[in-house]
Amino acid sequence: MNYEYKRKNIYKEADEAALKEIDAYAEEYKKFLYASKTERGAAATAKKLAEAKGYKPFTFGDKIKAGDKLYFINRDKNIFLMRIGKNDLEKRGIKIMVAHVDSPRLDLKPNPLFEEGGISFLKTHYYGGIKKYQWTTIPLALHGVVMLPGGKKLDVCVGEEESDPIFYITDLLPHLSQEQNTKPLGTAIQGENLNAVIGTIPDKEEEKDAVKAAVLKLLHDKYGITEVDFETSELCFVPAGKPRDVGFDRSLISAYGHDDKVCAYPEMTALFDCDSDDTIISVFADKEETGSQGVTGMQSRVILDVLDSICASLGANPIVVRYKSMCISADVTAAYDPAYADVYEKRNSSYINCGASLTKYHGARGKSSTNDANAETVGYLRDVFDKAGVIWQTGELGKIDVGGGGTVAMYIANLGIDTCDIGVPVLSMHAPYEVISKADLYSMHLAMKAFCEA
Ligand code: MN
Ligand code: MN
Repeated sequence: MNYEYKRKNIYKEADEAALKEIDAYAEEYKKFLYASKTERGAAATAKKLAEAKGYKPFTFGDKIKAGDKLYFINRDKNIFLMRIGKNDLEKRGIKIMVAHVDSPRLDLKPNPLFEEGGISFLKTHYYGGIKKYQWTTIPLALHGVVMLPGGKKLDVCVGEEESDPIFYITDLLPHLSQEQNTKPLGTAIQGENLNAVIGTIPDKEEEKDAVKAAVLKLLHDKYGITEVDFETSELCFVPAGKPRDVGFDRSLISAYGHDDKVCAYPEMTALFDCDSDDTIISVFADKEETGSQGVTGMQSRVILDVLDSICASLGANPIVVRYKSMCISADVTAAYDPAYADVYEKRNSSYINCGASLTKYHGARGKSSTNDANAETVGYLRDVFDKAGVIWQTGELGKIDVGGGGTVAMYIANLGIDTCDIGVPVLSMHAPYEVISKADLYSMHLAMKAFCEA
Protein backbone atom coordinates (compact mmCIF):
# COMPACT_ATOMS: atom_id res chain seq x y z
CA MET A 1 0.00 0.00 0.00
CA ASN A 2 1.28 3.43 -0.96
CA TYR A 3 0.10 6.21 1.36
CA GLU A 4 1.63 9.07 -0.58
CA TYR A 5 -0.42 11.61 -2.65
CA LYS A 6 0.76 11.42 -6.23
CA ARG A 7 -0.81 13.10 -9.24
CA LYS A 8 -1.66 10.74 -12.08
CA ASN A 9 -0.99 11.62 -15.69
CA ILE A 10 -4.16 10.81 -17.62
CA TYR A 11 -2.21 9.77 -20.71
CA LYS A 12 -0.37 7.14 -18.66
CA GLU A 13 -3.66 5.66 -17.43
CA ALA A 14 -5.83 5.96 -20.56
CA ASP A 15 -6.51 2.97 -22.82
CA GLU A 16 -7.30 3.22 -26.56
CA ALA A 17 -11.02 3.76 -25.95
CA ALA A 18 -10.38 6.54 -23.44
CA LEU A 19 -7.98 8.29 -25.83
CA LYS A 20 -10.64 8.20 -28.55
CA GLU A 21 -13.21 9.73 -26.19
CA ILE A 22 -10.79 12.49 -25.18
CA ASP A 23 -10.11 13.42 -28.81
CA ALA A 24 -13.73 13.24 -29.94
CA TYR A 25 -14.83 15.41 -27.01
CA ALA A 26 -12.13 17.99 -27.80
CA GLU A 27 -13.35 18.34 -31.40
CA GLU A 28 -16.87 19.23 -30.23
CA TYR A 29 -15.44 21.63 -27.63
CA LYS A 30 -13.43 23.45 -30.28
CA LYS A 31 -16.61 24.06 -32.30
CA PHE A 32 -18.41 25.37 -29.22
CA LEU A 33 -15.52 27.63 -28.30
CA TYR A 34 -15.20 29.13 -31.78
CA ALA A 35 -18.91 29.99 -31.75
CA SER A 36 -18.73 31.43 -28.22
CA LYS A 37 -16.11 34.18 -28.18
CA THR A 38 -18.28 36.54 -26.12
CA GLU A 39 -20.82 35.86 -23.38
CA ARG A 40 -23.57 36.63 -25.89
CA GLY A 41 -22.08 34.09 -28.27
CA ALA A 42 -21.82 31.47 -25.52
CA ALA A 43 -25.41 32.03 -24.37
CA ALA A 44 -26.70 31.76 -27.94
CA THR A 45 -24.66 28.60 -28.61
CA ALA A 46 -25.82 26.99 -25.36
CA LYS A 47 -29.43 27.85 -26.21
CA LYS A 48 -29.09 26.18 -29.60
CA LEU A 49 -27.50 23.04 -28.13
CA ALA A 50 -30.08 22.90 -25.32
CA GLU A 51 -32.99 23.27 -27.75
CA ALA A 52 -31.61 20.34 -29.74
CA LYS A 53 -31.77 18.33 -26.49
CA GLY A 54 -35.41 19.27 -25.93
CA TYR A 55 -34.93 22.21 -23.53
CA LYS A 56 -37.72 24.81 -23.58
CA PRO A 57 -37.55 28.54 -22.78
CA PHE A 58 -38.48 29.68 -19.28
CA THR A 59 -39.42 33.16 -18.07
CA PHE A 60 -40.07 34.29 -14.52
CA GLY A 61 -43.67 33.56 -13.61
CA ASP A 62 -43.81 30.29 -15.62
CA LYS A 63 -44.87 27.19 -13.71
CA ILE A 64 -42.16 24.51 -13.39
CA LYS A 65 -42.79 20.79 -12.86
CA ALA A 66 -40.75 17.64 -12.34
CA GLY A 67 -39.37 16.32 -15.63
CA ASP A 68 -39.06 19.77 -17.22
CA LYS A 69 -35.93 20.67 -19.15
CA LEU A 70 -35.71 24.45 -19.31
CA TYR A 71 -33.42 27.32 -20.16
CA PHE A 72 -33.59 30.87 -18.88
CA ILE A 73 -31.68 33.53 -20.77
CA ASN A 74 -30.88 36.60 -18.73
CA ARG A 75 -30.41 39.62 -21.04
CA ASP A 76 -28.80 37.44 -23.76
CA LYS A 77 -25.58 37.22 -21.72
CA ASN A 78 -26.19 34.76 -18.91
CA ILE A 79 -27.99 31.44 -19.36
CA PHE A 80 -29.37 28.95 -16.84
CA LEU A 81 -29.98 25.39 -18.07
CA MET A 82 -32.32 23.55 -15.70
CA ARG A 83 -33.22 19.88 -15.41
CA ILE A 84 -36.05 19.46 -12.94
CA GLY A 85 -35.85 16.03 -11.31
CA LYS A 86 -38.50 14.01 -9.58
CA ASN A 87 -36.55 13.66 -6.31
CA ASP A 88 -37.69 15.65 -3.27
CA LEU A 89 -36.04 19.08 -3.43
CA GLU A 90 -36.06 19.56 0.34
CA LYS A 91 -34.25 16.23 0.82
CA ARG A 92 -31.83 16.37 -2.10
CA GLY A 93 -31.35 20.09 -2.70
CA ILE A 94 -30.35 21.45 -6.11
CA LYS A 95 -27.06 20.60 -7.78
CA ILE A 96 -25.61 23.78 -9.20
CA MET A 97 -22.70 24.22 -11.59
CA VAL A 98 -21.53 27.73 -12.43
CA ALA A 99 -18.89 28.76 -14.95
CA HIS A 100 -18.40 32.16 -16.55
CA VAL A 101 -18.48 32.80 -20.27
CA ASP A 102 -17.05 36.32 -20.40
CA SER A 103 -13.34 36.54 -21.21
CA PRO A 104 -10.77 39.35 -21.17
CA ARG A 105 -10.99 41.47 -24.31
CA LEU A 106 -10.94 45.00 -25.70
CA ASP A 107 -14.32 46.76 -25.53
CA LEU A 108 -14.95 49.81 -27.69
CA LYS A 109 -15.21 53.17 -25.94
CA PRO A 110 -18.60 54.93 -26.21
CA ASN A 111 -17.15 57.46 -28.68
CA PRO A 112 -14.36 55.38 -30.22
CA LEU A 113 -13.83 56.66 -33.77
CA PHE A 114 -10.97 59.02 -34.67
CA GLU A 115 -8.43 59.77 -37.37
CA GLU A 116 -4.76 60.57 -36.98
CA GLY A 117 -1.96 60.64 -39.56
CA GLY A 118 -4.21 59.42 -42.36
CA ILE A 119 -5.34 56.34 -40.44
CA SER A 120 -8.73 55.80 -38.83
CA PHE A 121 -8.91 53.97 -35.50
CA LEU A 122 -11.37 52.68 -32.92
CA LYS A 123 -10.42 53.40 -29.32
CA THR A 124 -10.81 50.55 -26.83
CA HIS A 125 -11.17 50.17 -23.09
CA TYR A 126 -9.89 46.80 -21.94
CA TYR A 127 -12.22 44.40 -20.10
CA GLY A 128 -10.77 42.10 -17.44
CA GLY A 129 -7.14 41.47 -16.55
CA ILE A 130 -4.92 41.68 -19.62
CA LYS A 131 -1.22 42.12 -20.30
CA LYS A 132 -1.58 44.98 -22.76
CA TYR A 133 1.51 44.22 -24.85
CA GLN A 134 -0.01 40.85 -25.82
CA TRP A 135 -2.86 42.52 -27.71
CA THR A 136 -0.76 44.42 -30.23
CA THR A 137 0.12 43.07 -33.70
CA ILE A 138 -2.34 40.17 -33.63
CA PRO A 139 -5.40 39.65 -35.83
CA LEU A 140 -8.54 40.93 -34.10
CA ALA A 141 -12.21 40.36 -34.85
CA LEU A 142 -15.08 42.68 -33.92
CA HIS A 143 -18.03 41.07 -32.12
CA GLY A 144 -21.16 42.42 -30.47
CA VAL A 145 -24.39 44.28 -30.92
CA VAL A 146 -25.46 47.81 -31.80
CA MET A 147 -28.79 49.22 -30.62
CA LEU A 148 -30.19 51.39 -33.39
CA PRO A 149 -32.77 54.11 -32.78
CA GLY A 150 -36.20 52.61 -32.14
CA GLY A 151 -34.89 49.49 -30.41
CA LYS A 152 -33.60 47.59 -33.46
CA LYS A 153 -30.65 45.40 -32.57
CA LEU A 154 -27.81 44.83 -35.03
CA ASP A 155 -25.55 41.79 -34.58
CA VAL A 156 -21.94 42.34 -35.58
CA CYS A 157 -19.23 39.77 -36.30
CA VAL A 158 -16.37 40.81 -38.57
CA GLY A 159 -13.03 39.07 -38.79
CA GLU A 160 -13.86 35.41 -38.32
CA GLU A 161 -14.45 34.33 -41.93
CA GLU A 162 -11.40 33.78 -44.15
CA SER A 163 -12.82 36.39 -46.52
CA ASP A 164 -13.37 38.96 -43.73
CA PRO A 165 -10.92 41.76 -42.94
CA ILE A 166 -9.34 41.70 -39.47
CA PHE A 167 -8.42 44.64 -37.24
CA TYR A 168 -4.99 45.43 -35.88
CA ILE A 169 -3.28 47.32 -33.07
CA THR A 170 0.20 48.53 -33.94
CA ASP A 171 3.38 48.35 -31.87
CA LEU A 172 6.67 50.20 -32.23
CA LEU A 173 9.33 48.77 -34.55
CA PRO A 174 12.40 47.47 -32.66
CA HIS A 175 14.57 49.98 -34.54
CA LEU A 176 12.88 52.83 -32.63
CA SER A 177 12.21 51.00 -29.36
CA GLN A 178 15.33 51.90 -27.42
CA GLU A 179 13.35 53.83 -24.82
CA GLN A 180 10.28 51.55 -24.88
CA ASN A 181 12.52 48.53 -24.25
CA THR A 182 13.65 50.00 -20.93
CA LYS A 183 10.08 50.29 -19.59
CA PRO A 184 8.44 47.64 -17.39
CA LEU A 185 6.04 45.27 -19.23
CA GLY A 186 3.03 46.75 -17.43
CA THR A 187 3.62 50.31 -18.61
CA ALA A 188 5.40 49.96 -21.96
CA ILE A 189 2.03 49.73 -23.75
CA GLN A 190 -0.55 52.22 -22.47
CA GLY A 191 -4.29 51.47 -22.43
CA GLU A 192 -4.92 54.64 -24.43
CA ASN A 193 -2.68 53.27 -27.19
CA LEU A 194 -4.80 50.15 -27.71
CA ASN A 195 -6.46 51.68 -30.77
CA ALA A 196 -7.38 49.38 -33.63
CA VAL A 197 -6.77 50.33 -37.25
CA ILE A 198 -10.01 50.27 -39.25
CA GLY A 199 -9.32 52.17 -42.47
CA THR A 200 -7.03 54.43 -44.51
CA ILE A 201 -8.91 55.45 -47.67
CA PRO A 202 -9.92 59.15 -47.51
CA ASP A 203 -13.20 60.57 -48.73
CA LYS A 204 -12.43 62.62 -51.87
CA GLU A 205 -14.79 65.46 -50.97
CA GLU A 206 -13.77 65.98 -47.34
CA GLU A 207 -10.88 68.24 -46.29
CA LYS A 208 -10.57 67.38 -42.60
CA ASP A 209 -10.76 63.85 -41.12
CA ALA A 210 -11.40 62.51 -44.60
CA VAL A 211 -10.59 58.89 -43.65
CA LYS A 212 -12.93 59.00 -40.68
CA ALA A 213 -15.63 60.45 -42.95
CA ALA A 214 -15.10 57.66 -45.48
CA VAL A 215 -15.29 54.99 -42.77
CA LEU A 216 -18.50 56.51 -41.40
CA LYS A 217 -20.00 56.52 -44.90
CA LEU A 218 -18.97 52.88 -45.36
CA LEU A 219 -20.44 51.89 -41.98
CA HIS A 220 -23.68 53.65 -42.85
CA ASP A 221 -23.92 52.04 -46.29
CA LYS A 222 -23.13 48.57 -44.94
CA TYR A 223 -24.81 48.54 -41.53
CA GLY A 224 -27.00 51.64 -41.44
CA ILE A 225 -25.19 53.04 -38.40
CA THR A 226 -24.05 56.56 -37.58
CA GLU A 227 -21.31 57.68 -35.17
CA VAL A 228 -23.63 58.14 -32.19
CA ASP A 229 -24.75 54.50 -32.49
CA PHE A 230 -21.39 53.41 -30.99
CA GLU A 231 -22.67 54.94 -27.78
CA THR A 232 -25.55 52.45 -27.71
CA SER A 233 -23.47 49.45 -28.69
CA GLU A 234 -21.64 46.63 -27.01
CA LEU A 235 -18.78 45.92 -29.35
CA CYS A 236 -15.44 44.37 -28.57
CA PHE A 237 -12.27 43.20 -30.24
CA VAL A 238 -11.27 39.61 -29.58
CA PRO A 239 -8.51 37.54 -31.16
CA ALA A 240 -9.63 36.37 -34.61
CA GLY A 241 -9.49 32.75 -35.70
CA LYS A 242 -10.25 29.21 -34.70
CA PRO A 243 -8.93 27.01 -31.89
CA ARG A 244 -5.88 25.02 -33.00
CA ASP A 245 -4.18 21.88 -31.71
CA VAL A 246 -0.74 22.39 -30.20
CA GLY A 247 2.22 20.01 -30.38
CA PHE A 248 3.22 17.08 -32.60
CA ASP A 249 1.07 14.85 -30.39
CA ARG A 250 -1.87 17.30 -30.62
CA SER A 251 -2.47 16.94 -26.88
CA LEU A 252 -3.18 20.64 -26.27
CA ILE A 253 -5.55 23.26 -27.67
CA SER A 254 -4.65 26.91 -28.14
CA ALA A 255 -7.59 29.28 -28.36
CA TYR A 256 -9.10 32.54 -27.19
CA GLY A 257 -11.41 32.30 -24.19
CA HIS A 258 -10.66 28.92 -22.57
CA ASP A 259 -11.14 30.90 -19.33
CA ASP A 260 -13.79 29.96 -18.63
CA LYS A 261 -15.53 28.25 -21.52
CA VAL A 262 -13.29 25.23 -20.92
CA CYS A 263 -15.32 24.69 -17.73
CA ALA A 264 -18.67 25.99 -19.06
CA TYR A 265 -18.76 23.45 -21.87
CA PRO A 266 -18.14 20.41 -19.61
CA GLU A 267 -20.79 21.47 -17.09
CA MET A 268 -23.27 21.76 -19.94
CA THR A 269 -22.39 18.40 -21.51
CA ALA A 270 -22.51 16.79 -18.05
CA LEU A 271 -26.02 18.17 -17.57
CA PHE A 272 -27.06 16.82 -20.99
CA ASP A 273 -25.46 13.38 -20.52
CA CYS A 274 -26.03 12.58 -16.86
CA ASP A 275 -28.42 10.01 -15.49
CA SER A 276 -30.06 11.54 -12.41
CA ASP A 277 -33.45 12.21 -10.83
CA ASP A 278 -32.15 15.25 -8.97
CA THR A 279 -32.74 18.85 -9.97
CA ILE A 280 -29.60 20.16 -11.63
CA ILE A 281 -28.79 23.56 -13.05
CA SER A 282 -25.88 24.66 -15.19
CA VAL A 283 -25.16 28.39 -15.18
CA PHE A 284 -23.16 30.36 -17.72
CA ALA A 285 -22.34 33.57 -15.87
CA ASP A 286 -21.27 36.96 -17.19
CA LYS A 287 -19.08 39.71 -15.70
CA GLU A 288 -16.78 37.39 -13.71
CA GLU A 289 -13.71 39.03 -15.17
CA THR A 290 -14.77 42.41 -13.80
CA GLY A 291 -15.98 41.27 -10.38
CA SER A 292 -19.37 39.60 -11.05
CA GLN A 293 -21.30 42.85 -10.54
CA GLY A 294 -24.35 43.83 -12.56
CA VAL A 295 -27.60 42.19 -13.71
CA THR A 296 -25.86 39.36 -15.53
CA GLY A 297 -23.16 38.70 -12.92
CA MET A 298 -23.25 36.24 -10.06
CA GLN A 299 -23.46 38.97 -7.42
CA SER A 300 -26.87 39.83 -8.84
CA ARG A 301 -30.07 38.42 -7.30
CA VAL A 302 -30.87 36.58 -10.48
CA ILE A 303 -29.48 33.21 -9.39
CA LEU A 304 -31.51 33.42 -6.20
CA ASP A 305 -34.61 34.29 -8.25
CA VAL A 306 -34.06 31.20 -10.42
CA LEU A 307 -33.63 28.93 -7.39
CA ASP A 308 -36.66 30.50 -5.68
CA SER A 309 -38.78 30.10 -8.81
CA ILE A 310 -38.01 26.37 -8.90
CA CYS A 311 -38.81 26.01 -5.18
CA ALA A 312 -42.03 28.04 -5.41
CA SER A 313 -43.35 26.01 -8.33
CA LEU A 314 -42.59 22.70 -6.65
CA GLY A 315 -43.87 23.81 -3.24
CA ALA A 316 -40.49 23.50 -1.52
CA ASN A 317 -39.09 25.81 1.17
CA PRO A 318 -36.24 27.71 -0.55
CA ILE A 319 -34.22 28.03 2.67
CA VAL A 320 -34.34 24.29 3.29
CA VAL A 321 -33.44 23.63 -0.35
CA ARG A 322 -30.46 26.00 -0.34
CA TYR A 323 -29.03 24.38 2.77
CA LYS A 324 -29.30 20.96 1.09
CA SER A 325 -27.81 22.22 -2.19
CA MET A 326 -24.25 22.14 -3.41
CA CYS A 327 -22.49 24.23 -6.02
CA ILE A 328 -19.46 23.55 -8.16
CA SER A 329 -17.80 26.80 -9.11
CA ALA A 330 -16.23 25.58 -12.33
CA ASP A 331 -13.38 27.92 -13.16
CA VAL A 332 -9.89 27.53 -14.51
CA THR A 333 -6.69 27.56 -12.51
CA ALA A 334 -3.07 28.17 -13.45
CA ALA A 335 -1.14 25.25 -14.93
CA TYR A 336 2.45 24.83 -13.78
CA ASP A 337 4.68 26.51 -16.35
CA PRO A 338 8.35 25.46 -16.15
CA ALA A 339 9.40 28.69 -17.89
CA TYR A 340 8.18 30.64 -14.85
CA ALA A 341 8.78 28.02 -12.17
CA ASP A 342 9.62 30.62 -9.51
CA VAL A 343 5.99 31.80 -9.11
CA TYR A 344 4.64 28.28 -8.55
CA GLU A 345 4.89 26.17 -5.43
CA LYS A 346 5.64 22.80 -6.98
CA ARG A 347 3.84 20.62 -4.46
CA ASN A 348 0.68 22.70 -4.67
CA SER A 349 0.48 23.43 -8.37
CA SER A 350 -1.85 21.97 -10.99
CA TYR A 351 -0.11 20.12 -13.82
CA ILE A 352 -1.05 19.70 -17.47
CA ASN A 353 -2.67 16.29 -18.20
CA CYS A 354 -3.23 15.48 -14.50
CA GLY A 355 -6.95 16.25 -14.60
CA ALA A 356 -9.41 18.85 -13.38
CA SER A 357 -8.04 20.58 -10.30
CA LEU A 358 -10.10 20.63 -7.12
CA THR A 359 -9.25 24.02 -5.63
CA LYS A 360 -10.22 24.59 -2.01
CA TYR A 361 -9.55 28.31 -2.26
CA HIS A 362 -8.22 31.04 -4.52
CA GLY A 363 -7.88 34.61 -3.24
CA ALA A 364 -4.82 36.61 -2.24
CA ARG A 365 -3.03 38.02 0.82
CA GLY A 366 -3.79 35.28 3.32
CA LYS A 367 -6.89 33.76 1.66
CA SER A 368 -8.74 37.09 1.36
CA SER A 369 -11.61 37.39 -1.12
CA THR A 370 -12.25 33.71 -1.58
CA ASN A 371 -14.58 30.91 -0.67
CA ASP A 372 -12.42 28.58 1.36
CA ALA A 373 -14.47 25.41 0.90
CA ASN A 374 -14.96 23.40 4.07
CA ALA A 375 -13.32 20.01 4.48
CA GLU A 376 -16.72 18.27 4.43
CA THR A 377 -17.52 19.65 0.95
CA VAL A 378 -14.09 18.87 -0.48
CA GLY A 379 -14.23 15.42 1.13
CA TYR A 380 -17.65 14.75 -0.39
CA LEU A 381 -16.41 15.70 -3.86
CA ARG A 382 -13.23 13.64 -3.48
CA ASP A 383 -15.37 10.58 -2.79
CA VAL A 384 -17.69 11.36 -5.72
CA PHE A 385 -14.79 11.67 -8.17
CA ASP A 386 -12.91 8.64 -6.82
CA LYS A 387 -16.00 6.45 -6.97
CA ALA A 388 -16.57 7.46 -10.59
CA GLY A 389 -12.91 6.84 -11.49
CA VAL A 390 -12.24 10.48 -12.40
CA ILE A 391 -8.57 11.43 -12.45
CA TRP A 392 -8.37 14.77 -10.64
CA GLN A 393 -5.69 16.78 -8.88
CA THR A 394 -5.43 19.66 -6.49
CA GLY A 395 -3.47 22.89 -6.36
CA GLU A 396 -3.27 26.56 -5.50
CA LEU A 397 -3.04 29.33 -8.08
CA GLY A 398 0.59 30.15 -7.31
CA LYS A 399 3.07 30.87 -4.55
CA ILE A 400 1.94 32.82 -1.50
CA ASP A 401 1.96 36.62 -2.01
CA VAL A 402 2.99 36.57 -5.68
CA GLY A 403 -0.51 37.58 -6.77
CA GLY A 404 -3.88 35.87 -6.69
CA GLY A 405 -7.30 35.64 -8.25
CA GLY A 406 -10.97 35.04 -7.58
CA THR A 407 -13.94 33.10 -8.88
CA VAL A 408 -17.72 33.24 -8.40
CA ALA A 409 -17.49 30.59 -5.63
CA MET A 410 -17.75 33.11 -2.77
CA TYR A 411 -20.90 34.73 -4.16
CA ILE A 412 -22.73 31.40 -4.33
CA ALA A 413 -21.38 30.34 -0.94
CA ASN A 414 -22.65 33.65 0.48
CA LEU A 415 -26.18 32.45 -0.33
CA GLY A 416 -25.73 29.64 2.17
CA ILE A 417 -24.84 27.00 -0.41
CA ASP A 418 -21.82 24.72 0.06
CA THR A 419 -19.52 25.54 -2.83
CA CYS A 420 -16.13 24.37 -4.08
CA ASP A 421 -13.98 25.40 -7.03
CA ILE A 422 -12.77 22.95 -9.61
CA GLY A 423 -11.31 23.74 -12.98
CA VAL A 424 -9.06 22.98 -15.90
CA PRO A 425 -5.42 24.12 -15.59
CA VAL A 426 -4.51 26.76 -18.19
CA LEU A 427 -1.14 27.83 -19.57
CA SER A 428 -0.84 31.56 -20.40
CA MET A 429 -4.19 32.36 -18.77
CA HIS A 430 -5.79 35.62 -20.00
CA ALA A 431 -3.45 35.77 -23.00
CA PRO A 432 -5.11 36.24 -26.40
CA TYR A 433 -4.38 32.57 -27.05
CA GLU A 434 -4.50 30.39 -23.95
CA VAL A 435 -3.56 26.71 -23.85
CA ILE A 436 -5.28 23.74 -22.19
CA SER A 437 -4.94 19.96 -22.32
CA LYS A 438 -7.55 17.80 -24.06
CA ALA A 439 -7.21 15.19 -21.29
CA ASP A 440 -7.90 17.80 -18.58
CA LEU A 441 -10.91 19.07 -20.53
CA TYR A 442 -12.39 15.57 -20.65
CA SER A 443 -11.55 15.00 -16.98
CA MET A 444 -13.62 18.11 -16.24
CA HIS A 445 -16.57 16.64 -18.13
CA LEU A 446 -16.27 13.36 -16.22
CA ALA A 447 -15.98 15.21 -12.89
CA MET A 448 -19.09 17.31 -13.60
CA LYS A 449 -21.00 14.22 -14.73
CA ALA A 450 -19.99 12.37 -11.54
CA PHE A 451 -21.23 15.37 -9.49
CA CYS A 452 -24.57 15.33 -11.31
CA GLU A 453 -25.02 11.58 -10.86
CA ALA A 454 -23.89 11.34 -7.22
MN1 MN B 1 -12.12 32.37 -14.80
MN1 MN C 1 -10.18 34.93 -15.69
